[in-house]
Amino acid sequence: MLIVPEREIADLMTREAAFEAVENVFAAMAAGDAYNFPVVREAIGHEDALYGFKGGFDRAGLTLGLKAGGYWPNNLEKRQIINHQSTVFLFDPDTGKAKAMVGGNLLTALRTAAASSVSIKHLARQDASVIGMIGAGHQAAFQLRSALEQRDFEKVIGWNFHPEMLPNIEKVAAEAGLPFEAVQLDGMVEAEVIISITSAFSPSLMADHVSPGTHVACMGTDTKGKQEVETALLAKADVFTDEVAQSISIGEAQHAIAEGLITEADVAQLGAVINGTHAGRSSDEQITLFDGTGVGLQDLAVAASVVELAVAKGIAIEVDF
Ligand code: NAD
Repeated sequence: MLIVPEREIADLMTREAAFEAVENVFAAMAAGDAYNFPVVREAIGHEDALYGFKGGFDRAGLTLGLKAGGYWPNNLEKRQIINHQSTVFLFDPDTGKAKAMVGGNLLTALRTAAASSVSIKHLARQDASVIGMIGAGHQAAFQLRSALEQRDFEKVIGWNFHPEMLPNIEKVAAEAGLPFEAVQLDGMVEAEVIISITSAFSPSLMADHVSPGTHVACMGTDTKGKQEVETALLAKADVFTDEVAQSISIGEAQHAIAEGLITEADVAQLGAVINGTHAGRSSDEQITLFDGTGVGLQDLAVAASVVELAVAKGIAIEVDF
Protein backbone atom coordinates (compact mmCIF):
# COMPACT_ATOMS: atom_id res chain seq x y z
CA MET A 1 0.00 0.00 0.00
CA LEU A 2 1.16 3.55 -0.74
CA ILE A 3 0.99 6.46 1.67
CA VAL A 4 1.07 10.10 0.58
CA PRO A 5 1.20 12.24 3.74
CA GLU A 6 -0.55 15.58 4.03
CA ARG A 7 2.82 17.41 4.23
CA GLU A 8 3.70 16.30 0.67
CA ILE A 9 0.48 17.38 -1.05
CA ALA A 10 1.31 21.08 -1.49
CA ASP A 11 4.45 20.32 -3.49
CA LEU A 12 2.83 17.57 -5.54
CA MET A 13 -0.66 18.67 -6.51
CA THR A 14 -1.20 21.46 -9.00
CA ARG A 15 -4.39 23.39 -9.70
CA GLU A 16 -4.22 22.09 -13.28
CA ALA A 17 -4.11 18.44 -12.14
CA ALA A 18 -7.02 19.02 -9.73
CA PHE A 19 -9.03 20.72 -12.47
CA GLU A 20 -8.45 17.87 -14.91
CA ALA A 21 -9.33 15.19 -12.32
CA VAL A 22 -12.57 16.94 -11.34
CA GLU A 23 -13.63 17.70 -14.93
CA ASN A 24 -13.07 14.05 -15.88
CA VAL A 25 -14.99 12.66 -12.94
CA PHE A 26 -17.96 15.03 -13.47
CA ALA A 27 -18.05 13.76 -17.07
CA ALA A 28 -17.88 10.12 -15.90
CA MET A 29 -20.75 10.73 -13.43
CA ALA A 30 -22.97 12.18 -16.16
CA ALA A 31 -22.10 9.30 -18.52
CA GLY A 32 -23.20 6.83 -15.84
CA ASP A 33 -19.65 5.49 -15.44
CA ALA A 34 -19.17 6.75 -11.88
CA TYR A 35 -21.43 7.02 -8.88
CA ASN A 36 -21.28 8.26 -5.30
CA PHE A 37 -22.30 6.17 -2.31
CA PRO A 38 -24.74 7.56 0.25
CA VAL A 39 -22.96 10.01 2.56
CA VAL A 40 -22.59 9.16 6.24
CA ARG A 41 -22.27 12.15 8.60
CA GLU A 42 -22.48 11.71 12.37
CA ALA A 43 -22.21 13.94 15.41
CA ILE A 44 -20.12 11.43 17.40
CA GLY A 45 -20.75 12.95 20.84
CA HIS A 46 -17.02 13.55 21.47
CA GLU A 47 -15.16 16.86 21.08
CA ASP A 48 -18.30 18.23 19.34
CA ALA A 49 -16.96 16.50 16.22
CA LEU A 50 -18.88 15.85 13.01
CA TYR A 51 -17.40 12.75 11.38
CA GLY A 52 -18.37 10.97 8.19
CA PHE A 53 -17.58 9.15 4.96
CA LYS A 54 -17.99 10.14 1.33
CA GLY A 55 -17.24 7.33 -1.11
CA GLY A 56 -17.84 6.15 -4.63
CA PHE A 57 -16.66 4.17 -7.61
CA ASP A 58 -15.50 5.46 -10.97
CA ARG A 59 -15.62 2.55 -13.41
CA ALA A 60 -14.02 4.68 -16.14
CA GLY A 61 -11.06 5.81 -14.05
CA LEU A 62 -11.05 2.58 -11.96
CA THR A 63 -11.06 4.59 -8.75
CA LEU A 64 -12.72 3.06 -5.70
CA GLY A 65 -12.56 4.41 -2.19
CA LEU A 66 -13.73 6.89 0.40
CA LYS A 67 -12.83 10.06 2.21
CA ALA A 68 -13.15 9.79 5.98
CA GLY A 69 -13.08 12.82 8.19
CA GLY A 70 -15.00 15.86 9.25
CA TYR A 71 -14.93 18.87 11.52
CA TRP A 72 -13.37 19.09 14.99
CA PRO A 73 -14.22 22.59 16.25
CA ASN A 74 -11.75 22.52 19.18
CA ASN A 75 -8.65 21.49 17.23
CA LEU A 76 -7.19 24.91 16.55
CA GLU A 77 -7.56 26.24 20.07
CA LYS A 78 -6.64 23.07 21.97
CA ARG A 79 -4.10 21.43 19.68
CA GLN A 80 -3.05 24.09 17.11
CA ILE A 81 -4.13 21.91 14.18
CA ILE A 82 -6.84 22.80 11.68
CA ASN A 83 -10.48 22.00 12.44
CA HIS A 84 -11.20 20.26 9.12
CA GLN A 85 -9.45 16.86 9.06
CA SER A 86 -9.79 14.24 6.37
CA THR A 87 -7.97 11.26 4.83
CA VAL A 88 -8.66 9.53 1.52
CA PHE A 89 -8.42 5.74 1.19
CA LEU A 90 -8.20 4.14 -2.26
CA PHE A 91 -8.83 0.44 -2.96
CA ASP A 92 -7.97 -1.79 -5.91
CA PRO A 93 -11.35 -2.33 -7.65
CA ASP A 94 -10.14 -5.71 -9.00
CA THR A 95 -9.27 -7.21 -5.62
CA GLY A 96 -10.59 -4.96 -2.84
CA LYS A 97 -7.07 -4.61 -1.43
CA ALA A 98 -6.16 -1.25 0.11
CA LYS A 99 -4.11 0.67 -2.45
CA ALA A 100 -3.35 4.08 -0.97
CA MET A 101 -3.86 6.38 2.02
CA VAL A 102 -3.65 10.07 1.16
CA GLY A 103 -3.83 13.25 3.27
CA GLY A 104 -7.15 14.87 2.36
CA ASN A 105 -7.06 18.38 3.85
CA LEU A 106 -5.42 20.43 1.10
CA LEU A 107 -6.92 18.11 -1.53
CA THR A 108 -10.42 19.05 -0.31
CA ALA A 109 -9.68 22.73 -0.82
CA LEU A 110 -8.21 22.11 -4.28
CA ARG A 111 -11.00 19.84 -5.52
CA THR A 112 -13.64 22.34 -4.30
CA ALA A 113 -11.87 25.18 -6.11
CA ALA A 114 -11.61 23.01 -9.21
CA ALA A 115 -15.38 22.41 -9.20
CA SER A 116 -16.35 26.08 -9.49
CA SER A 117 -13.61 26.56 -12.08
CA VAL A 118 -14.91 23.70 -14.20
CA SER A 119 -18.35 25.33 -14.03
CA ILE A 120 -16.88 28.68 -15.15
CA LYS A 121 -15.05 27.04 -18.04
CA HIS A 122 -18.22 25.43 -19.35
CA LEU A 123 -20.94 27.93 -18.40
CA ALA A 124 -19.58 31.48 -18.05
CA ARG A 125 -19.60 33.92 -20.95
CA GLN A 126 -16.31 33.95 -22.83
CA ASP A 127 -16.09 37.76 -22.47
CA ALA A 128 -16.49 37.78 -18.66
CA SER A 129 -14.20 40.48 -17.26
CA VAL A 130 -15.37 41.10 -13.67
CA ILE A 131 -15.53 38.34 -11.05
CA GLY A 132 -17.43 38.83 -7.79
CA MET A 133 -16.66 36.95 -4.58
CA ILE A 134 -19.15 36.44 -1.78
CA GLY A 135 -17.16 35.03 1.12
CA ALA A 136 -13.57 35.59 2.22
CA GLY A 137 -12.82 32.59 4.42
CA HIS A 138 -10.43 29.67 4.01
CA GLN A 139 -12.01 28.30 0.81
CA ALA A 140 -12.65 31.67 -0.86
CA ALA A 141 -8.96 32.22 -1.63
CA PHE A 142 -8.71 28.78 -3.27
CA GLN A 143 -11.88 29.34 -5.33
CA LEU A 144 -10.72 32.74 -6.58
CA ARG A 145 -7.14 31.67 -7.42
CA SER A 146 -8.44 28.83 -9.54
CA ALA A 147 -11.30 30.81 -11.14
CA LEU A 148 -8.94 33.56 -12.32
CA GLU A 149 -7.31 31.01 -14.65
CA GLN A 150 -10.56 30.45 -16.57
CA ARG A 151 -11.21 33.83 -18.21
CA ASP A 152 -9.30 37.05 -18.88
CA PHE A 153 -10.67 38.78 -15.80
CA GLU A 154 -9.77 42.44 -15.39
CA LYS A 155 -11.14 43.12 -11.93
CA VAL A 156 -12.19 41.34 -8.71
CA ILE A 157 -15.03 42.67 -6.55
CA GLY A 158 -15.93 41.19 -3.17
CA TRP A 159 -18.41 41.26 -0.32
CA ASN A 160 -18.15 39.43 2.98
CA PHE A 161 -20.41 39.21 6.01
CA HIS A 162 -17.27 39.86 8.09
CA PRO A 163 -15.62 42.72 6.13
CA GLU A 164 -12.38 42.42 8.12
CA MET A 165 -11.73 39.13 6.26
CA LEU A 166 -11.78 40.74 2.78
CA PRO A 167 -7.95 41.09 2.66
CA ASN A 168 -7.87 37.26 2.24
CA ILE A 169 -9.27 37.63 -1.27
CA GLU A 170 -7.75 41.02 -2.00
CA LYS A 171 -4.35 39.29 -1.61
CA VAL A 172 -5.27 36.71 -4.28
CA ALA A 173 -6.35 39.45 -6.69
CA ALA A 174 -3.05 41.25 -6.06
CA GLU A 175 -1.07 38.04 -6.72
CA ALA A 176 -2.75 37.93 -10.14
CA GLY A 177 -2.04 41.63 -10.71
CA LEU A 178 -5.74 42.54 -10.66
CA PRO A 179 -7.48 45.45 -8.93
CA PHE A 180 -9.83 44.58 -6.06
CA GLU A 181 -12.86 46.55 -4.93
CA ALA A 182 -15.00 45.88 -1.86
CA VAL A 183 -18.67 46.34 -2.77
CA GLN A 184 -22.12 46.11 -1.23
CA LEU A 185 -24.20 43.15 -2.36
CA ASP A 186 -26.07 45.21 -4.96
CA GLY A 187 -22.66 46.07 -6.45
CA MET A 188 -22.48 42.45 -7.67
CA VAL A 189 -24.49 43.54 -10.74
CA GLU A 190 -21.12 44.53 -12.22
CA ALA A 191 -19.88 40.91 -12.27
CA GLU A 192 -20.27 38.40 -15.10
CA VAL A 193 -19.10 35.59 -12.79
CA ILE A 194 -19.98 35.33 -9.09
CA ILE A 195 -18.72 32.70 -6.64
CA SER A 196 -20.39 32.36 -3.25
CA ILE A 197 -18.51 30.36 -0.64
CA THR A 198 -19.88 31.05 2.83
CA SER A 199 -21.26 29.05 5.74
CA ALA A 200 -24.49 31.10 5.78
CA PHE A 201 -27.93 29.78 6.71
CA SER A 202 -29.81 32.63 5.04
CA PRO A 203 -29.41 34.20 1.60
CA SER A 204 -26.98 37.06 0.94
CA LEU A 205 -27.15 37.28 -2.86
CA MET A 206 -30.61 38.31 -4.10
CA ALA A 207 -31.97 37.78 -7.60
CA ASP A 208 -31.78 41.49 -8.41
CA HIS A 209 -28.08 41.60 -7.47
CA VAL A 210 -27.32 39.45 -10.52
CA SER A 211 -27.20 40.84 -14.08
CA PRO A 212 -28.44 38.95 -17.13
CA GLY A 213 -25.79 36.65 -18.59
CA THR A 214 -23.97 36.11 -15.29
CA HIS A 215 -22.66 32.73 -14.17
CA VAL A 216 -23.08 32.12 -10.42
CA ALA A 217 -21.24 29.27 -8.66
CA CYS A 218 -22.81 28.52 -5.27
CA MET A 219 -20.21 26.51 -3.37
CA GLY A 220 -20.95 26.97 0.33
CA THR A 221 -24.22 25.09 0.76
CA ASP A 222 -23.39 21.46 1.47
CA THR A 223 -25.76 20.68 4.35
CA LYS A 224 -29.48 20.78 5.00
CA GLY A 225 -30.48 24.27 6.14
CA LYS A 226 -27.54 26.24 4.70
CA GLN A 227 -28.41 28.86 2.06
CA GLU A 228 -26.43 31.53 0.18
CA VAL A 229 -28.73 32.92 -2.53
CA GLU A 230 -32.38 33.90 -2.86
CA THR A 231 -34.56 31.11 -4.22
CA ALA A 232 -35.94 33.49 -6.90
CA LEU A 233 -32.45 33.43 -8.45
CA LEU A 234 -32.67 29.67 -9.00
CA ALA A 235 -36.16 30.11 -10.45
CA LYS A 236 -34.86 32.46 -13.13
CA ALA A 237 -31.50 30.73 -13.77
CA ASP A 238 -30.56 27.59 -15.67
CA VAL A 239 -29.41 25.38 -12.78
CA PHE A 240 -26.52 22.91 -13.01
CA THR A 241 -24.91 20.76 -10.34
CA ASP A 242 -22.29 18.13 -9.62
CA GLU A 243 -24.90 15.62 -8.42
CA VAL A 244 -28.65 16.14 -8.67
CA ALA A 245 -29.53 14.01 -5.60
CA GLN A 246 -27.25 16.15 -3.38
CA SER A 247 -28.26 19.42 -5.00
CA ILE A 248 -31.95 18.99 -4.21
CA SER A 249 -31.42 17.64 -0.68
CA ILE A 250 -28.34 19.35 0.82
CA GLY A 251 -27.33 21.83 -1.89
CA GLU A 252 -28.47 25.33 -2.77
CA ALA A 253 -31.41 23.94 -4.77
CA GLN A 254 -32.97 22.38 -1.64
CA HIS A 255 -34.83 25.62 -0.81
CA ALA A 256 -36.17 26.38 -4.31
CA ILE A 257 -37.33 22.76 -4.52
CA ALA A 258 -39.03 22.97 -1.09
CA GLU A 259 -40.79 26.19 -2.15
CA GLY A 260 -41.97 24.56 -5.39
CA LEU A 261 -40.15 27.16 -7.53
CA ILE A 262 -38.18 24.51 -9.43
CA THR A 263 -38.36 20.74 -9.75
CA GLU A 264 -35.67 18.07 -9.86
CA ALA A 265 -36.04 18.03 -13.66
CA ASP A 266 -34.86 21.65 -13.76
CA VAL A 267 -31.44 20.71 -12.33
CA ALA A 268 -28.93 19.45 -14.91
CA GLN A 269 -25.56 17.76 -14.38
CA LEU A 270 -22.52 19.87 -15.26
CA GLY A 271 -20.98 16.64 -16.53
CA ALA A 272 -23.60 16.50 -19.29
CA VAL A 273 -22.35 19.87 -20.54
CA ILE A 274 -18.75 18.60 -20.42
CA ASN A 275 -19.82 15.51 -22.40
CA GLY A 276 -21.76 17.60 -24.91
CA THR A 277 -25.09 15.91 -24.15
CA HIS A 278 -26.45 19.18 -22.69
CA ALA A 279 -26.01 22.45 -24.59
CA GLY A 280 -25.13 24.40 -21.41
CA ARG A 281 -25.42 28.20 -21.70
CA SER A 282 -28.26 29.02 -24.09
CA SER A 283 -27.61 32.74 -24.67
CA ASP A 284 -25.49 35.69 -23.55
CA GLU A 285 -28.50 36.91 -21.54
CA GLN A 286 -29.21 33.70 -19.64
CA ILE A 287 -28.15 33.42 -15.99
CA THR A 288 -26.47 30.08 -15.24
CA LEU A 289 -26.07 28.78 -11.68
CA PHE A 290 -23.83 25.94 -10.58
CA ASP A 291 -24.83 24.30 -7.30
CA GLY A 292 -21.55 22.71 -6.16
CA THR A 293 -22.36 20.39 -3.29
CA GLY A 294 -19.08 18.45 -3.14
CA VAL A 295 -19.07 14.74 -3.92
CA GLY A 296 -16.84 11.90 -2.76
CA LEU A 297 -15.79 11.10 -6.32
CA GLN A 298 -14.06 14.49 -6.51
CA ASP A 299 -11.94 13.51 -3.50
CA LEU A 300 -11.09 10.13 -4.98
CA ALA A 301 -10.21 11.67 -8.34
CA VAL A 302 -7.72 14.19 -6.91
CA ALA A 303 -6.30 11.57 -4.51
CA ALA A 304 -5.71 9.13 -7.38
CA SER A 305 -4.03 11.91 -9.34
CA VAL A 306 -1.73 12.83 -6.42
CA VAL A 307 -0.77 9.18 -5.89
CA GLU A 308 0.36 9.01 -9.52
CA LEU A 309 2.40 12.18 -9.09
CA ALA A 310 3.92 10.89 -5.84
CA VAL A 311 4.91 7.60 -7.45
CA ALA A 312 6.44 9.40 -10.44
CA LYS A 313 8.50 11.60 -8.11
CA GLY A 314 9.48 8.70 -5.82
CA ILE A 315 7.79 10.36 -2.84
CA ALA A 316 5.05 7.79 -2.09
CA ILE A 317 5.83 5.71 1.01
CA GLU A 318 5.33 1.99 0.33
CA VAL A 319 4.27 -0.27 3.22
CA ASP A 320 3.48 -3.98 3.38
CA PHE A 321 -0.20 -4.33 4.20
P1 NAD B 1 -14.61 29.64 6.76
O1 NAD B 1 -15.11 29.40 8.14
O2 NAD B 1 -13.16 29.83 6.55
O3 NAD B 1 -15.38 30.90 6.13
C1 NAD B 1 -16.74 31.09 6.29
C2 NAD B 1 -17.22 32.22 5.42
O4 NAD B 1 -18.63 32.38 5.61
C3 NAD B 1 -16.59 33.57 5.77
O5 NAD B 1 -16.44 34.32 4.57
C4 NAD B 1 -17.64 34.19 6.67
O6 NAD B 1 -17.55 35.60 6.71
C5 NAD B 1 -18.90 33.73 5.97
N1 NAD B 1 -20.09 33.78 6.82
C6 NAD B 1 -20.22 33.32 8.08
N2 NAD B 1 -21.46 33.56 8.54
C7 NAD B 1 -22.14 34.19 7.53
C8 NAD B 1 -23.46 34.68 7.37
N3 NAD B 1 -24.36 34.58 8.36
N4 NAD B 1 -23.80 35.25 6.19
C9 NAD B 1 -22.91 35.35 5.18
N5 NAD B 1 -21.65 34.89 5.27
C10 NAD B 1 -21.27 34.32 6.43
O7 NAD B 1 -15.16 28.40 5.92
P2 NAD B 1 -14.63 27.84 4.52
O8 NAD B 1 -13.67 26.72 4.77
O9 NAD B 1 -14.23 28.97 3.65
O10 NAD B 1 -15.96 27.15 3.96
C11 NAD B 1 -17.05 27.95 3.54
C12 NAD B 1 -18.25 27.08 3.27
O11 NAD B 1 -17.96 26.18 2.19
C13 NAD B 1 -18.68 26.18 4.43
O12 NAD B 1 -20.09 26.21 4.51
C14 NAD B 1 -18.21 24.79 4.02
O13 NAD B 1 -19.00 23.77 4.58
C15 NAD B 1 -18.40 24.88 2.52
N6 NAD B 1 -17.60 23.92 1.73
C16 NAD B 1 -18.20 23.38 0.64
C17 NAD B 1 -17.49 22.50 -0.13
C18 NAD B 1 -18.13 21.92 -1.37
O14 NAD B 1 -17.58 20.97 -1.94
N7 NAD B 1 -19.21 22.46 -1.84
C19 NAD B 1 -16.18 22.14 0.20
C20 NAD B 1 -15.57 22.77 1.30
C21 NAD B 1 -16.30 23.67 2.06
